[in-house]
Amino acid sequence: MKFRDGNKTVVIGAGLAGMACAALLAKSGHSVQLIEKHDTVGGRNRKWTHQGFQFDMGPSWYWMPDVFERFYQLFGHTHQDFYELKRLDPSYQVFWSDREPITLPADFDSLKTLFDGFEAGSGDRLAAFLKEAKIKYDTAMSEFIYRPSLHATEYADLQLIQKSMRLDLFQSIAKHIRKYVQDPHLVQLLEFPVLFLGAKPQETPALYSMMNYADMMLGTWYPMGGMTKISEAFHQILAENKVELITDTEVDSFILGSDRNVKAVSTSSGLLETNLVISGADYHHTEMNLLPNSSRSYSKAYWDKKVMAPSSLLFYVGVDKKIPGLEHHNLFFDAPFSAHAKSIYDDHIWPEDPLFYVCAPSKTDPVVAPEGKENLFILIPLSTRLKDDPSKHDHYFNRVLDRMERQLGCTIKDHVLFHRS
Ligand SMILES: Cc1cc2nc3c(=O)[nH]c(=O)nc-3n(C[C@H](O)[C@H](O)[C@H](O)COP(=O)(O)OP(=O)(O)OC[C@H]3O[C@@H](n4cnc5c(N)ncnc54)[C@H](O)[C@@H]3O)c2cc1C
Repeated sequence: MKFRDGNKTVVIGAGLAGMACAALLAKSGHSVQLIEKHDTVGGRNRKWTHQGFQFDMGPSWYWMPDVFERFYQLFGHTHQDFYELKRLDPSYQVFWSDREPITLPADFDSLKTLFDGFEAGSGDRLAAFLKEAKIKYDTAMSEFIYRPSLHATEYADLQLIQKSMRLDLFQSIAKHIRKYVQDPHLVQLLEFPVLFLGAKPQETPALYSMMNYADMMLGTWYPMGGMTKISEAFHQILAENKVELITDTEVDSFILGSDRNVKAVSTSSGLLETNLVISGADYHHTEMNLLPNSSRSYSKAYWDKKVMAPSSLLFYVGVDKKIPGLEHHNLFFDAPFSAHAKSIYDDHIWPEDPLFYVCAPSKTDPVVAPEGKENLFILIPLSTRLKDDPSKHDHYFNRVLDRMERQLGCTIKDHVLFHRS
């Protein structure tokens, strides 16, 4: 890429990706302006504070700490410069319809014993499954993830092609898992991490058992003070590298010259001249809303056919007491997964009886709720093609709380101080 002296490089969006990109460009000598439409950084990783509670609005699972560490080290930092990282033990809890809930221990020998309790010999088979998953994780991280992927020739290397054979791209993860375990609970435990990726396990390559390795071997972590500590850390790195951050400003289009190269971006605060723009906003949004038609790589028909990762209905809930029996992360698998998955990926309808996830970070972190109270984040995965209908929110809120009360054997509804969807 060529840069004109004196021109600023513009990065759109101060989410984690945009901030990381802006900081790296600045470190390598560019003069960078980072444009964010909100009044705060973090993007999906923002917080909402209300009545003494502090809610992480998006991500709550801190996995693959090695990736964060590698980023911080590029700037001479470690995570300890920004936050205390705690490994959660148990990693998470799972509720079922036909048996008592289980908690997944961080210690691997205890995890093997837990597996053996479901299916004799499955502990050793789990070890074999994860040994193979480690090879995928190490290959993906060392050979693929950090390549710029600007051109296919980056991958035209015999050794690399041989290594890619280890990645198990042609078999589904659903089939792969069933070679190791048969018990439906164990199958569901091993299939759960790929639900984050946006496809059914039957349609997800076995490559993604690397997510099981991340889950069960690398562990589930939590930055004390909340997930937005990560956004704050990235924000500090921006400042240290003299990135000019412009908030409350929305980019509405790219201005191209007659040579079809970018000349400026038009924003809600005026025109910004530049000859390099990098967008950290969603790819679809950047292509379809910011780029002129002639410069788009894909058509509307292409995007309409794409299977997107699930959307979700979220609730941020303040509760006036501690809820016994909840852990930091709780998966409510006490409803049939296949019917819920069909509503998300095939039928695009509101689910009858959804699986859901409850995060209670106040179990770990005193900062996120007043003393003696519980901070709940509830997530129900939904199809991205649903039209939101706020009149349905209360229906789902009540159903989810009913199921929690039944599973936990205590009242919650009467103790809700407020909830936001
Ligand atoms: C509910 C939820 C739960 C999640 N849970 C997890 C989890 O547990 N663990 C995990 O690892 N990941 C999780 N994720 C995913 C994770 O949050 C995202 O992958 C990550 O935050 C994306 O960062 P980003 O910078 O790519 O995008 P974003 O965070 O979306 O940042 C894009 C930024 O661009 C800005 N922007 C967009 N358009 C414009 C414009 N035209 N002009 C100016 N600014 C613009 C936006 O305001 C935003 O700040 C979750 C996501 C959600 C939504």
